[in-house]
Amino acid sequence: MERREIFGRAAEAVRRAGALVITAGAGMGVDSGLPDFRGDQGFWKAYPPYERLGLSFVDAANPSHFEQDPPFGWGFYGHRTNLYRATSPHAGFQILLGWVERFRLPYFVVTSNVDGQFQKAGFDEERILEVHGSIHHLQCSAPCGSAIWDNGEEIEVDLESMRAQQIPSCPRCAGVARPNILMFGDYAWLPNRTHEQRRRFDAFVGAHARRRPVVIEMGAGTAIPTIRFTTEHLGGTEGAVAIRINPREPQIDSPHLSIPVGALEGLTGIERALT
Ligand SMILES: [Zn+2]
Repeated sequence: MERREIFGRAAEAVRRAGALVITAGAGMGVDSGLPDFRGDQGFWKAYPPYERLGLSFVDAANPSHFEQDPPFGWGFYGHRTNLYRATSPHAGFQILLGWVERFRLPYFVVTSNVDGQFQKAGFDEERILEVHGSIHHLQCSAPCGSAIWDNGEEIEVDLESMRAQQIPSCPRCAGVARPNILMFGDYAWLPNRTHEQRRRFDAFVGAHARRRPVVIEMGAGTAIPTIRFTTEHLGGTEGAVAIRINPREPQIDSPHLSIPVGALEGLTGIERALT
């Protein structure tokens, strides 16, 4: 299919949709200038100090640092907290919100990103499922209880050593706090906030799965397949259309639509075909 025809079909699906499900992986943030951690080279390009230390993304995103060396653990997550707070979501987020408004679409967002960019762009907190948690929420690293609270911490990070100057603490036991993010080999992550979000998502799917839902997936690679499974599962319901926007891994079975470009370019193309 020609590019123009794919955009036209995607636009027609959006126009006819009774509900919108937005699924997003790490590639969604690239157009906002966020780093892509794909492969060691991608990670080290974003974080040269870890290349000097010989640490991969998997090594840095490990919950054991909060126990063994909290300033080091918080170096990575403090830097990312600051980065995500300073980042403005790209125009693609507003295109999606524009469709929600114009076509009065009930919607839900499912993302593996922990960066809070959908909330920042204006999406409703009650309509977002963050499958790996969020950097903007903290928990006890032990954990001593089930509390999850907002991350209001100001954390300075020394960019040479990637060590944090401040260590957030748990208000209950005064131990080290950590982001409520599912890390690698993580047995201490508290899933209750994500479970609550999932309960709302399941209710949404129950109410809207038969109303010709359109699923728009952006930047979700095969390395972390959760998001792609969600897209394919929902796309399999009768009358549903899935649109996979991905510059590197766009494959999806017909009748679903594959758009082999970045998130912003793909959404812009559909938007042009709608007007
Ligand atoms: Zn505690």
